[in-house]
Amino acid sequence: MTYVKIRQILKKYPYLVIVHVSIVCLRLVEVRARSINFSLPAIPDIVQPPIPSTFESAFGENGDQLSETEQDPEVKPGLFQGDMALNNEIYNYWRVGLRWDVFPEKLWKNRTVPYVISPLYETEEYITIYQAIRILNFMTCIKFVPWDGKAKDYLLIWPVKYPSGCWSYVGRYGGPQILSLEPPNEKSPNCLGSEGRALHELLHALGIFHEQSRADRDKFVKIHTDNIIPQFKANFDKQSLENTTYTFEYDYDSIMHYGRTFFSISKSRPTITVKHKGKHIGQRKALSKTDCLKVNDLYGCLGTPPRYNRKYYHLCNFMGI
Ligand SMILES: [Zn+2]
Repeated sequence: MTYVKIRQILKKYPYLVIVHVSIVCLRLVEVRARSINFSLPAIPDIVQPPIPSTFESAFGENGDQLSETEQDPEVKPGLFQGDMALNNEIYNYWRVGLRWDVFPEKLWKNRTVPYVISPLYETEEYITIYQAIRILNFMTCIKFVPWDGKAKDYLLIWPVKYPSGCWSYVGRYGGPQILSLEPPNEKSPNCLGSEGRALHELLHALGIFHEQSRADRDKFVKIHTDNIIPQFKANFDKQSLENTTYTFEYDYDSIMHYGRTFFSISKSRPTITVKHKGKHIGQRKALSKTDCLKVNDLYGCLGTPPRYNRKYYHLCNFMGI
């Protein structure tokens, strides 16, 4: 079979690449684990959920346009809204109004998220990811715990090769669930320059959407539709009012807000600008006060008993930016 033929097949069935990469990764894990005499929990042969078919259309012509315009690593994968992997089922639910109070099964049970950090990461990269996990363990009542090899649902934090970049499923999917964080290379720190991008993807995995998809966002930001790569205009859709489950103020400082030039046809042409002077968007340094309160509220950390109320409320206000 010629190289061209293989390329054609892979283009048509990109999930084959994922399967192949997963197998190679698992082999590498085995070899590496053996070489450092370190026992890892068994990782199943088939990683669920499968990469959704919806991302395929983002490659080809439009995928080229994304890479040519030096996009943010959250945008590169070309998944739903850049870095969210949704299958058709979830996408359709969301289009008709997925609400976390209506779909509580998407929240992590007992506020506990078992996780595995891929041994393919270098030590510094591992520490960056672990730091993001520590921050969430400290600032919220959610507990990220190393996977015991038994829990059915857990996060696999992995340097996925295809699609690469920073991306996550939204909420608990059920079973082993990939969260992709691309390690640094010679061109870019990608998703691990600091813990901010890991925090962003972990918040998606906990069930948080992007801030600028709020129903009331037009009062706070202007979307420059002409500057958006045409294929990705839908990434700037709003959620309907009844889908908005949070009562918090619009948060320019959110780590979940798009940056100024996300999905832009050119770095010099913004896709989102703020309507209030002096506000900045797209920070990926730390949780904002509201990010922190929002995730604590979603998981009931601000509820009874009252002392929790004070504890996490004060922590968010003290540590959030
Ligand atoms: Zn995102």
